[in-house]
Parts: sequence; structure tokens; C-alpha cells
Amino acid sequence: MQLHSAFLCGWENQKVIVCIDAGHGGKDAGSVSSNGKRYEKDDNLQMALAVQKELEKHDIKVILTRENDTFVILQKRCQIANFRRADLFVSIHRNSSESGNGVEVWIKSQENEADEKLANSILDELAKTQIQTNRGIKQGTSENDGNDYYVNKYTKMPSCLIELGFISNQKDNQLLDENKENYAKAIANGILQNIP
Ligand SMILES: [Zn+2]
Repeated sequence: MQLHSAFLCGWENQKVIVCIDAGHGGKDAGSVSSNGKRYEKDDNLQMALAVQKELEKHDIKVILTRENDTFVILQKRCQIANFRRADLFVSIHRNSSESGNGVEVWIKSQENEADEKLANSILDELAKTQIQTNRGIKQGTSENDGNDYYVNKYTKMPSCLIELGFISNQKDNQLLDENKENYAKAIANGILQNIP
């Protein structure tokens, strides 16, 4: 559908295009809360839709890699952004571990000023809201495998991946639920500061 509508719309309106990627989806739940009731894929999608709503208030064209609870492979997510020539790409995820809490933003390991600036803007804005811990900007992947997250590696525009709190941490979940709109506005504001 995305590819088809790109042909219909053409490039006639020179709007800035931001691609928002809700991590996981469908058969891929992502991380799950300790009580088994909360799926990362759902939190990611809700936030992606909320960020879309905020950006559209500022006349930004937003494309989503998924708009509902469907499974989309990583290659396809990058293709959507690259084919539509998005100006910026922001992936939304939630973290999970036995003891961690707070927000972090990932960029690829290769030095890239635009990625850094995008990630910094978003994290700075989020840090102005109620978050438990600012875990900073991180490069590569949490596995320390010398690699990058797929969507950071294969998208051709400035990109970053937000870990919006830990789904394994009750306080982080509570903060997300209470601040959903503020988080969405913060992410949108960070993005707006990086519009080319
Ligand atoms: Zn994830």
C-alpha cells in the first residue's frame, strides 16, 4: 500500500517527510512485561501514532512503517523510508532487563553528525519531561557486537532508535502511561529541530 500511494501522490508537494517506525508487531511482540500482560509492540505503535499526530500539526508528512498490529520485516521498514525518500527516520522501541530503567537513544556506530544531532534533540526534549533516568545516547547495539541496529544501518537518512523506558520496570510503564502525550510532544519537538 505504501509503495502504491507514493506513486499516486508523487513528489509534487515538497513537504518534509518523517518516517516513524513502531518496532515489532504482529507475531513479534518485542519485550513483554513481567506479568506477561504488556507487549512492547503495542506501546511502540501507540507512541508512533501519537508522534504522528503531533508532527502533522506542524505540517510534516509522516509515514509509518506499520499502522496496526502487523509483522513487518526490518528490510521492508527501511525500504519504506528509503523509497519514499524520508528526510528523517525515528524508530520507537521499549527496553527490557532485570534491573534497568530510563530512556536511551541509539545511533549507528559510524560517526554521523546528523544522527547525533537528531538523537540528542529527542533525548534532550524527553529529559525535560518526567522520565526516570536519562541513559544517554548510545552507539551500535546493546549486544556490543560491533554492529548497528538494522534500521539505523540500512536507512539512508539521519536516523535513531529510541528505547522509551523499560517495559520490565513498573515505574517506567507508569510514567509512560501518565506522560504519553508529553513524550509524543517531546519526540516530535526533537524531530522538528532537525527538519532540513
Ligand atoms: Zn524493541
